[in-house]
Formats: sequence, C-alpha cells, structure tokens
Amino acid sequence: MPTSSSKQAAANNLPISASSSWLVHLTAALIAGCFITITFASFAYLFLTSVGSEEIAQLQEPSDERELLITLLGFIALTGSASWFANQFARRRLIDDSGAGAERELRNAINTIPAIVWSTSPDGNNDFHNQRLLAYTGVDAATALGMGWVDMLHPEDLERHVAAWRDAVATGTAFECESRLKRSDGQYRWFLARAEPLRDPSGRVVRWYGTNVDIDDRRRAEEALRRSDAYLAEAQKLSRTGSAVWNLATGEVVCSDEFYSIFGFAPRSRLSVEMILQRTHPDDATFVRRELARAVAEVGQIDLEHRLLMEDGSVKHVHLVAHSTRDAQERCELVGAVMDVTARTKAYAALEASECRYRHLFDHMPVALGQLDLGEMAGLFAELRASGVTDLDAHFDAHPDLLTFCQGSLVITAANGNLIRLLGGTDEGAIIGRSALGGLLGSSDTIRRSLVSCFRMETSFQDETKIETIDGRRIDVLFTSSITSSGPDRDTGVLGLIDISQRIRAEEGLRRVQADYAHSARVSTLGQLTASIAHEINQPLAAIATHGEAGLRWLDNATPDLDEVRKSTRQVIANAHRASDIVGRIRAMAVRREQPHEVLAFDTLLRETILFLRHEAQSRGVTIIHRNNADNLAVRADRVQLQQVVVNLIMNSIQAMADSEADRRRITINTTPDGMAALLCHFDDSGPGIRPEHLPRLFESFFTTKCDGMGIGLPICRSIIEAHGGSMSAENGGAEGGARFILRLPTDVSSAN
Ligand code: ADP
Repeated sequence: MPTSSSKQAAANNLPISASSSWLVHLTAALIAGCFITITFASFAYLFLTSVGSEEIAQLQEPSDERELLITLLGFIALTGSASWFANQFARRRLIDDSGAGAERELRNAINTIPAIVWSTSPDGNNDFHNQRLLAYTGVDAATALGMGWVDMLHPEDLERHVAAWRDAVATGTAFECESRLKRSDGQYRWFLARAEPLRDPSGRVVRWYGTNVDIDDRRRAEEALRRSDAYLAEAQKLSRTGSAVWNLATGEVVCSDEFYSIFGFAPRSRLSVEMILQRTHPDDATFVRRELARAVAEVGQIDLEHRLLMEDGSVKHVHLVAHSTRDAQERCELVGAVMDVTARTKAYAALEASECRYRHLFDHMPVALGQLDLGEMAGLFAELRASGVTDLDAHFDAHPDLLTFCQGSLVITAANGNLIRLLGGTDEGAIIGRSALGGLLGSSDTIRRSLVSCFRMETSFQDETKIETIDGRRIDVLFTSSITSSGPDRDTGVLGLIDISQRIRAEEGLRRVQADYAHSARVSTLGQLTASIAHEINQPLAAIATHGEAGLRWLDNATPDLDEVRKSTRQVIANAHRASDIVGRIRAMAVRREQPHEVLAFDTLLRETILFLRHEAQSRGVTIIHRNNADNLAVRADRVQLQQVVVNLIMNSIQAMADSEADRRRITINTTPDGMAALLCHFDDSGPGIRPEHLPRLFESFFTTKCDGMGIGLPICRSIIEAHGGSMSAENGGAEGGARFILRLPTDVSSAN
C-alpha cells in the first residue's frame, strides 16, 4: 500500500521535477510579476490620461506615438502574462501527469519485483508492504501492519527473527535474517529478510526499508548439499576412508575430513603432498613415492597398502587407491582414496596367528584329527529340508540308498600324524579323500546316528565304535565329529578318533573282575542258602520216592493197576523235572558263564526268585509280599544277574530284621511303571533301616556292618543294574518302616505289544 513517503520517493525520480529549487520558483514569480505589472501600468496610464483630458472618445484612436507605444507595451505584457500563465499551466499539467505515471510505474515495479517489499517506522512497526506479501500469505493488508507480520513466521524461527529485528531497530544497524514464512496454503518457505535504515541529515533513522526474498529452493539445495556432504563424511568416517585430490600443477591438495583424521593432521589445515608423504612409514616411503610417480607419469592407477608412522610413534595400515587424470587445462590431477585398514590388518594377523595355532594344535595334539569336507552333505541336507524332511532317521528307513550315499559324502581333506598312524597309513595321501564314515566305521549304527546329529545341526557328535584300519586291524575308538562353521552353510567339520582299545580292554578286565566278584558273591549266597536249597531239592526228591513206592505197590498187586502206575510215574517224572529245575537254577547261580540278555517279564522273574528263597524266609519268620503290577513289564536282561540282585536284596532284608519282633518281619516288593520306558521296583522291609551316616557309603566296595559280611553285595547289585541301563539307590522310610531299595530299569518297549 503506497504511503506519502512512497509518493515522495516517486517524485524524486521524475524526469521533470515539480519541486525544482526555490530559485527557479522565485525567478518565475518575478517574471510573471513583471508582466502583470507592465500590463496593469500600461492600461492604467491610458485610462487615467484619457479620463483626465476628457478625450475619452479619442481613446479608440490613439493619435500620437507615445500612446501607441504604451498600448503596444500593455498588449505585449498582457499577451506575455497570458502566454506565461498558459505555459506554466501546461508545465504543471505535464508535471502532474508525469508524477502520476511515475507513481503508477513505481507501484507496479514494487509489486512486480520478485520479493516482498516493506517499510517500517523508525520504531520497527510495519507501515507498508507490497502486494506480494498479501498474495503469498493470504492475509489482508491491515493484518501485516505494525507487528502483525510475526504471526506469519514459523514458530521455530519466530523468537530468533524477532530478536534480530529488535536488535537491528535498537542499534540502527542493517538487518538480515533467514526464516520461514507461512504461505496461504499453510506451507512454510524460507525467506531472506533484509532491511536498511534511512537516516536524515542528522543521522537519525527516519524509516526502515526492507525486502524478503524467497530462498527456499536455495535453502533446500543447500540442505541437500549439506546432507549429502554430511552423509559422505559419515560414510567416510564409518568406512574409515578419506579422499584427496592433488593438483600437480598448482600443488594444491584438497582432502576430506576423514583424510585429515587418518593422517593425523589438524582438520582443514593446509597440506602439501610432501607433508602427506612424510607420514609414510620410512620402510614403505620409497615404494610409495615410486608408485605415485608412476601413476602420475603414466596417467595410471595405483592400488597398494602401506604403513603410516604417526607422530605418537604408532603405526597405521592404509589401503591407497588412486588414479591420475587431466583437468580442463590438461593439468594432471591425482584423485585418491585412503582406507584405514589397521583394524582389519590386525584382525588378519590375529586370524593368521589363530590359524597357525589351530594348525599347530591339529598337527601336534595327541589325538587323531582329520578335517572333513561337509559341502556335498550340507547341500544334500539343504535339499532334504527344502523338500520338507524333518526326521532324517525316519527318512533313512524309507530310503536306505540315501544312507549309503551319505556315507560316501563325508570326505577327509586333511589328517594329522596321529590319524595317519592310527589308521595305519604311511602318509597323508593315504588318508585324504577317504570317506570318513563308510571307509572307516564298522558300525553303520554310528554312521547313521552321526548323520542324523549333523542333520539336526548339533555341533558335535560322539560315539564309541570300532573302525577298520587301512592295514586291516579293527580297533575300538571314541569317534567324535564336530562342525566348525556356524550357520546354515556349515561345510567344514573336524573328525577326532581316540584309540580306546586299552580302555576297553581295561573295562573288560574290570568287568571280568566284577563278574568274578559277582560269581563269588552268588556262590557265597548259595553257601548261605545251603539249608534252603537242600530243603527245596529234598521236596521233589521225597515226592519222587513216595510216588515211586506207590507205583511199585500198584504193580505188586495181584491185578496191577496200570492206570495208577501211570499216574505215579507221571508224578515221579514231574517232581524229577522240578528237582532238575531247582538244580539248574542253582547251577546257573553257581557257574561263572555270562548269560545272553533275553526279554523277561520282570514280575515273573521276581516270583521265581522269591520261590527260591521261600524256605529261607519261612525259617526266619519273614513274610514276603509280592505285589504284581498289572502289566508285568518286560526287561531285556541277564536272568541270573537280576536273580542275584533280588536274592541279595531279600537276604539283606532278612538279615537286617533278625532282631525285629517275629511277627513284624515283612518284606514288600512293588513294581510300577516309570514313564513310558522304565519300571521302578521298591524293596521295603520292616527292619531298623540304614543309619544315616552309612547311606553315602552303602554302595562302596567292602562296606559292611556285619561281622561276617564282605561288603560286595550292594556294589555288585548296583553295577549289574547299571550294566542293564538302570540305576539303584537306597533310602529310609519305606512302606514297611525300614530300609527301601529302589531299582530303576529300562523296559523293553519292543515287547510291549
Ligand atoms: P554285606 O551284606 O556283606 O554287608 P552288602 O553290600 O550286601 O554287604 O551290604 C552292605 C551293608 O548295607 C550291610 O552291611 C548293611 O549294613 C547295609 N544294608 C544292606 N541292606 C540293608 C537293609 N535292608 N537294612 C539295613 N541295612 C542294610
């Protein structure tokens, strides 16, 4: 909105100035005054002289030359005044017309220039702005006046902008501020606001004139550039890569911040190539200079790693890539990037050392080690998984050929000396390339389980098995395989073989000793049971004798009753079998031979063994209660060994109850299932129980509290049960109030149906 001051400003710029100096005005007024005076004087003279001589009638016709001259002079003055006034009027018209046009021009110019233009009073209150502000902000003219314009500022810029403006107004210094202005559609754009004060001759600020120029695009470009620079700097920082350009003609070197950081120079300091080269480790300097010279001379590329010797004496490893190029003036420039690879180099060195250590361990460990290539197998397993196979064990059942294929897929790629020796080879060549499973392992069960373990991505597998050596021996080994790479691409494994032949031999020796002990214990028990055994055998023998005599009597009759003789004979035979069975059982208990494991109904075995001890128990006043479990769970076991355990436990209980009241000597035996694949059998007696201090030592060899005891019964029982895959323990507080012995044995699931 134009103001008086803007009009004044417009007028100042007019080609014909309406406000020419006061001298011009004064001159014009004097000239006009002269003309008017002369005119009036001429006409006054003519009028006064004619009236005075009463010859007015002759006035129309001047008779002498003086009157004519005066008349002429008056006419000229009149005409001059009229023409001067006309001229002045025309000039004024011209001036007025020109002033209005210029103002219009100015107004158009102010509204057209691509900026918001405004002015304020000396105190900073806006009193004028061009149409552009209104068009941009969409507010009406009055709203922006005074300090109304602050509402158009972005809230984040408001405080800063107003403070800067107030400061400028207070100090009378030029104002400049970048801030965002709200557009009519609510969007903000960046503007550069500038203002200068207009001062009067005394230096007092009389007005402020300002502009707001839209710099949003520039700001965005600057922001994008700044962000791009920041990203680049960040990327360089992250990758520890600095970049530099060296102009050979000017010697100028331009470097990125990271370059300064890598070389340890103060940021943005002025660098020369020589300064940079001086950072090169002395041992690498010649080589680096030569390569740089070659790149410059041949306009080529260099790619090298070298060391830097830093001011503090530390050493950095850098990877330098550079190539020379020509600028527009055909001047050579070297453009390069330097990556700080100190950490990587150290990691490589550590890795190398680690590999060296691994190799050393691999070669010198007192264990036979081989490296396996699992690549083919890993590929096959990946395919199987992709096709939905989750249970490799079941898959092998359905595809036996696959197992054979897998056996050949685990190939040995490296072997240490111990493996070569263990396998009876002469050198690594005899081992490398051999299948680790098919070629070595005798037990296909171990092969299968190791493959299943690998398929399940278990990191290690171990099994005791036998292997076939190259020179035809069969040795017992602890076979271990482990996967060294992690993740789904596991393709390297380590095979370990420990010769356990000696341990197996020692274990066999130990087993023999245990068997001898067990045998001795059984024989010793049989010795204790002599009376019972004699009683047991005596019964069928007595029956045989009775039935034999009866048969003879039937034969001796006058009319022999052959039917009765047959009956008696059958009884003789049956009792002979009974006696034979008893003798057989006693023999089995007495012989040293190991029995093959067979599937046995556990409660049947208990019943038979209790029968064997029946007389012993009865003679000592002990009642044995056997609670059959409904399922009669089956176990796979050595019958005689299990009988020995049962006899031992019952005999111990009988002995423990020797001092108990005669009518309270009870043993209860109860079997229950333990989960899906085991049984629990409790032997409870009503004896005094086990003294708490004896409990931890109960299963130690030769621990006994009896004066005639040997202390090998319970350890043998436990080793028998453990050899059957079970466990054995003892506690107090059983169902009968005395000791409780607990057997846990795996059941034979195959016979469950
Ligand atoms: P021995 O019968 O020769 O002593 P065992 O190994 O069979 O050897 O038993 C070791 C010890 O365990 C016995 O001396 C006894 O102290 C204790 N013991 C075994 N069974 C029982 C039981 N049912 N009640 C109390 N103590 C028992």
